[in-house]
Amino acid sequence: MIELKNVVKSYKLGTKRVDVLKNISFTIQDHSYVSIVGPSGSGKSTLIHTIGGMEPIDEGEIWVNDQAVHQLNDKHLAKLRQNMISYVFQQFQLLPTATALENVMMPLLTVFSSGFVKQRAENALKRVGLAHRLHHLPTRLSGGEQQRVAIARALITDPEIILADEPTGNLDSETGSNIIHLLEEIHKEKGVTVVVITHDEGIAERTNRQIQILDGKLLTK
Ligand code: ADP
Ligand code: ADP
Repeated sequence: MIELKNVVKSYKLGTKRVDVLKNISFTIQDHSYVSIVGPSGSGKSTLIHTIGGMEPIDEGEIWVNDQAVHQLNDKHLAKLRQNMISYVFQQFQLLPTATALENVMMPLLTVFSSGFVKQRAENALKRVGLAHRLHHLPTRLSGGEQQRVAIARALITDPEIILADEPTGNLDSETGSNIIHLLEEIHKEKGVTVVVITHDEGIAERTNRQIQILDGKLLTK
C-alpha cells in the first residue's frame, strides 16, 4: 500500500519559494493500476519522486507498506528501490556506454553476485521480448526497445510497485501502446502495482483509477 498524508513540498528558486505539492493525501491499495493526470507543471513528477524517496518532502508522511519513506536515510531509501519500488522514465535514462544487459543488471550489482544478477537480467530482458538484444548499446536500439530495456531494469528487483513517468511520451502511438500493454501484463501476471503519469486520455482510461492533480492539489480521489 502507498499512503500519502498531508504531503507538502516546495522548491526554493533563489529567494522565492514555489509550492509544488500542497497538502496531498491519498491511498493506493496493493495490486492497483492507477494513472496520475493533470497539466504540465502541476506536480505529477515531483509526486512520484517523493513516493520512492527521490525527493524529500517538507511536511506530511509517505508510507509504503510499513515503511515511513519520509524518515528513511539514504541507505534505506536505496534498499527500498532495490526490493520494493522501481521507476520507468520518459527519457528511458539508460547508461549510453553500457549494453542492454549491463543496464538491466545495474540496480542489483551491489547486492548480489554478478553471475546471479546476470541470469536475472537475461530473464528480465527475455520477459520484455529482448532476448536477442542483450549486447546492444542503447544507441543501437529503437525508442520502444530502449523503453523495454528500462522496464527490464525495473523488473530485475522484482518490485511490488512500478512508478512510470510518461513512459510513452517519447514514443509514437503504436510503440507507446505496446509499452502500456507490457506494463499491464506485468501488473496482471505478478500483481505489481503500476502507477503511470500520462497526458494520454486513452491510457488514463485503461487504468482502474485516475488521480487528478491541478496546481499541486488533488482534484478527485
Ligand atoms: P509535472 O510532472 O506535472 O509536469 P513537475 O513535478 O515536473 O510537474 O513540476 C511541478 C513544478 O515544480 C513546476 O513548476 C516545475 O517547474 C517545478 N519544479 C520541478 N522540479 C523542480 C526543481 N528541482 N527545482 C525547482 N522547481 C522545480
Ligand atoms: P517532465 O517532463 O517530467 O515534466 P521537466 O522537463 O519538467 O520534466 O523536468 C525535468 C527535470 O528538471 C526534473 O528532474 C525536474 O525536477 C527538474 N526541473 C523542472 N523544473 C525545474 C525548475 N524550475 N528548476 C529546476 N529544476 C527543474
